[in-house]
Amino acid sequence: MSIEIRNLRKRFDDFDALKNINLTLKEGKLTALLGPSGSGKTTLLRIIAGLESADSGEVRFFGENITKQSPKNRGIGFVFQHYALFKHMSVFENIAFGLKVRPKALRPSKEAIKAKVMELLKMVQLESLAKRYPSELSGGQKQRVALARALAIEPKVLLLDEPFGALDAKVRVDLRKWLRRLHDEIHITSIFVTHDQEEALELSDEIVIMNSGAIEQVGTPESVYEHPANPFVYSFLGNVNLFKARIKEGMLVTESGEHETFFVRPNEIEISFTKKYGSHEGQILHHRILGQRIILEVQIDEGENAQIVEVQIDKATLNEIRQREAKNIYVNFLNLKAYRSDEQSWSEYVI
Ligand code: ADP
Ligand code: MG
Repeated sequence: MSIEIRNLRKRFDDFDALKNINLTLKEGKLTALLGPSGSGKTTLLRIIAGLESADSGEVRFFGENITKQSPKNRGIGFVFQHYALFKHMSVFENIAFGLKVRPKALRPSKEAIKAKVMELLKMVQLESLAKRYPSELSGGQKQRVALARALAIEPKVLLLDEPFGALDAKVRVDLRKWLRRLHDEIHITSIFVTHDQEEALELSDEIVIMNSGAIEQVGTPESVYEHPANPFVYSFLGNVNLFKARIKEGMLVTESGEHETFFVRPNEIEISFTKKYGSHEGQILHHRILGQRIILEVQIDEGENAQIVEVQIDKATLNEIRQREAKNIYVNFLNLKAYRSDEQSWSEYVI
């Protein structure tokens, strides 16, 4: 196990930024720290880097306790959201910097530095831009230079804090895929901070979900998405409908009485034009076309029992709704969960 964090706590004045964090990160994997703004991701990353000190607890790298070591002795590369490139240095000089400032005994020869920089430029696909200055680069190119610069010193651990956060949507998605492929080649133990669940799900081998200075769940993207530990994780990882109803004789009913709150994702609801076993009659209120995804807003029941659910449908279904001029349809819940907070577990229902 490469990075171990034990009983880590950090307070800012009277605010608990990290509440007893325990975490083991796997060697050679790309782990995302995912959580809303203010959940403590950057604080945790900075403590791992040694840029911030913890109030108590331990950080171990590859079995060695490095809690008290300075950042430069930890063998880390760091990439921040805002391109911290040296403005007065070319791309080449930026990437070479970490090697050139080494003490003489550890410094590679000029030729070796050049070869290393050219290799890194090739890796980040910027070979033709070696002579440019940061002001002559796009945001995405700057972040690739920042990554090459971080990798130049051959760190044992790569730390990235929202590295694509300041880029526009298209570049973000391209760089995300690019970084994933790059990581598949170099397998450097990496920690990637993001508040964007799609980025974490697509990019990482493991996700650590944080909330209010604590860890909610750790697992592969598939496992945390399919088996969220609690309502926070469920809601944070994707869109959710909260639906009030109760189970009566194996059926989901919305009539007044004692209700439970069910969780169901928009893509786990189907619509039909004829009544099926267990389906609910609903009235179409609106639809929103979000590129490939179409979201239908459907009202189930009326008056004080009325509830609106969002259903994800495809283009063919939208066309059929239009053709039929359908206002009323049937809604079928494919996967319903209710959370029992006393037992801290989910109940799943198949209706
Ligand atoms: P995230 O990266 O998840 O957005 P941070 O780790 O930056 O969250 O911050 C966690 C909490 O700690 C926030 O509420 C933030 O305001 C607070 N915090 C972070 N750094 C400091 C600091 N140097 N002084 C006081 N409060 C801080
Ligand atoms: Mg942050």
